[in-house]
Amino acid sequence: MITFQELGLREEIQTAVTALGYDQPMPIQAEVIPFMLSETTDLVALAQTGTGKTAAFGLPLLHLINPQKRQIQALVLAPTRELCIQIANDLKGYASRLPSVKIVPVYGGESIVLQFRQLDVPPQIIVATPGRLIDLIHRGKVNLDAVDYLVLDEADEMLNMGFQDDLETILQEVPDNRRTMLFSATMPAEITRIAGKYMHNAKEIAVGTRNAGAENVRHIFYMVQAKQRYLALKRIVDMNPDIYGIVFCRTRQETKDVADKLMQDGYNADALHGDLSQAQRDAVMNKFRIRNLQLLVATDVAARGLDVSDLTHVINYNLPDDSEVYTHRSGRTGRVNKSGISVSIIHSKEQRRIRELERMIKKTFFQERIPNGLEICKRQLFHFIDKMENVQVNVSEIEQFLPHVVAKLDYLSKEELISRFVSLEFNRFLDYYKDAEDLNLPERPERNRREKPERVRSEGRREVSSSNARRGQRVRLKINIGARQNVNIRSVLGIINDTTNDRTISIGDIEITPKFTFFDVYADQADIVRAAFSANNRGFSVTEVEGVRNSRPFRADREQGSYRKPRSSADKYSRSEVRETSYKTEKPWRQRRYK
Ligand code: AMP
Repeated sequence: MITFQELGLREEIQTAVTALGYDQPMPIQAEVIPFMLSETTDLVALAQTGTGKTAAFGLPLLHLINPQKRQIQALVLAPTRELCIQIANDLKGYASRLPSVKIVPVYGGESIVLQFRQLDVPPQIIVATPGRLIDLIHRGKVNLDAVDYLVLDEADEMLNMGFQDDLETILQEVPDNRRTMLFSATMPAEITRIAGKYMHNAKEIAVGTRNAGAENVRHIFYMVQAKQRYLALKRIVDMNPDIYGIVFCRTRQETKDVADKLMQDGYNADALHGDLSQAQRDAVMNKFRIRNLQLLVATDVAARGLDVSDLTHVINYNLPDDSEVYTHRSGRTGRVNKSGISVSIIHSKEQRRIRELERMIKKTFFQERIPNGLEICKRQLFHFIDKMENVQVNVSEIEQFLPHVVAKLDYLSKEELISRFVSLEFNRFLDYYKDAEDLNLPERPERNRREKPERVRSEGRREVSSSNARRGQRVRLKINIGARQNVNIRSVLGIINDTTNDRTISIGDIEITPKFTFFDVYADQADIVRAAFSANNRGFSVTEVEGVRNSRPFRADREQGSYRKPRSSADKYSRSEVRETSYKTEKPWRQRRYK
């Protein structure tokens, strides 16, 4: 393995790197640094955050620029303000023994006038977000004519964030003979196009395989009813008392909702999303960075640039649509030789997405069971006991009280003492999980898992029925037509068939009332039915009836052609039977203590 001394960097840089505790170059550094020092062509590097890429481009930049020349010689572009600041700070650390080297970050969201001042004397290196840089160029505060080195960091993110035009503008502003280094976690076609258009004979390197998840990340998924995601999340967190992770949500609203519920339930969590002011975002990120927060609930966009390298877990509260986003999310754990876990909470229809992801990132996803109450209690108990065993006893502080306490508890045996101490922490906890339901959806047999998708249209009746049997949970839907419109079971089925155009959907327990028709579908098909009706403009609307369903199997599947008569009144849903699947059913079992 090559050493930093062998890389041929200036003495001052080597000293700074040693002072930072870097013993050995990381693989990307071992490849990029010698290349930058000895060759003259461009570089395209497929590398995720956490691989050491900042030093991979930063150290050669510092070596190659002329510290005595007061001109912008290197420009680093990054997608977010946070990443700009982080890169600039890293570079300042590497340049700590090069006093005449100035590094200035410029980014949106902060007063441009303040940034003017830092640019009065041109720094040798600028780290910028594209939009703000263009602004500064237009105002004549930045001149890129002397740029010898251009770094595009997280190029895919810059495109995702809509910086494509800005990027091309900047690429046209910098001198043609500069060297460009492009770093990207993924390589979408657009990046390849930009590299082809603006870069020359670029050497390509990849740290890890294309689109691969980090090596030491374990990918697991839990399958629950969509409505029970939140309960599942809490159990996952409770099962991992030392969790330090990001919970990724799809939308701002979902981010707010999940974070609010977690906070109400006493978890050490907060939200990070685009509706927060810059100051609020900074405050949350800081709290998380210094581990004053255990859980950060965030959207992908808001979490960009957040520099945390040692997450224990990344939780996909919802799977992203884009596999590359998944790669990005999961790349936030398992960094720098640490192991990490990327958790996905899915519902049964999303199994196919899991298989797609497996193919994309060439990793196996393991399905795990949502722990039950007893398992969680056990884990928490032993965690508590471990903490007790390892607690630092401050003898001098407590010795004045100890004799009294010992005398007071003298009548208790060791066993009694322990059971009281355990109960103190655990009564509430046990109580909370006492009647906790099983959140797991019935599992499909593992041997079928990889061989074929959940259901194939052409499957015969028997196979469909057996997969239905496995599905278990049913949902009752209501459609806004009834006896007054002269519908009967046959015409209702006709409407459902025509609208969904999916014969594999099983319908049961049809009940026609004067204004509405009720029917059951399996939970994993309910969304398909609802979506089909809402996409169809025939004036029908389908809504879910909140009610407790018993576990009786369907009496009739469409494939079987027999239907149940309207149910007896005792069998009907009543308004009081509110389905208890929302997070409200599991109340906070304790007030968590903030660290
Ligand atoms: P990056 O991918 O640039 O975000 O780097 C990830 C983390 O690795 C940062 O915390 C760096 O400080 C750290 N790092 C970079 N190079 C090395 C190295 N050679 N040895 C140890 N840590 C490093």
